[in-house]
Amino acid sequence: MSASPVVGVLALQGAFELHRQVLEGLGARVQLVRRGDQLDDIDRLVLPGGESTTMSMLAERGGLIEPLADFVRSGRPVLGTCAGAILLSAQVLDGRADQRCLGAIDLVTRRNAFGRQVDSFTIDLTIDGLGGAMFPAVCIRAPVIESVGDGVEVLARIDGRPAMARQDAIMVTIFHPELAGDARVHEWFLDS
Ligand code: GLN
Repeated sequence: MSASPVVGVLALQGAFELHRQVLEGLGARVQLVRRGDQLDDIDRLVLPGGESTTMSMLAERGGLIEPLADFVRSGRPVLGTCAGAILLSAQVLDGRADQRCLGAIDLVTRRNAFGRQVDSFTIDLTIDGLGGAMFPAVCIRAPVIESVGDGVEVLARIDGRPAMARQDAIMVTIFHPELAGDARVHEWFLDS
């Protein structure tokens, strides 16, 4: 009998706990990741929302940047949501000068770009490849994806701009799927 895959959830800061609950609800085994060596034992990884500047700083302090970069290069599936998407991107605009990006997906993000007056909103999205009803996308101080490279498939848009995208095994959302009360994005990620 083969054991079910272990999904790592980066747990330095931010919305990791709800990701854990949704994934466990789908029957996955979850490992909260706080050290680089924990990445050796997992099959998939979720980078949650939160504050990308803080997450970057904590990852750097904890010696996690190189292990995370190795993980994404290994071809194992990664889901980055909101701040997690920023961390996975090739470049971040309006970030801190010392903020790190893993360059795992060929896109440019701009932090907090929906503006103060729309700090947080929910919008029903049609997501390519996701069957069933529209997906309630919860955006909280979300980044905007300013541009995507040729190899990136855009799966959903908000106001014409990419809100969900995929390149090889890396999937990103600018919204928080763990807050949707709808586990289809996580389910899709577990099946990928
Ligand atoms: N504004 C945050 C950042 O720049 C992202 C917000 C979120 O993850 N909900 O990191």
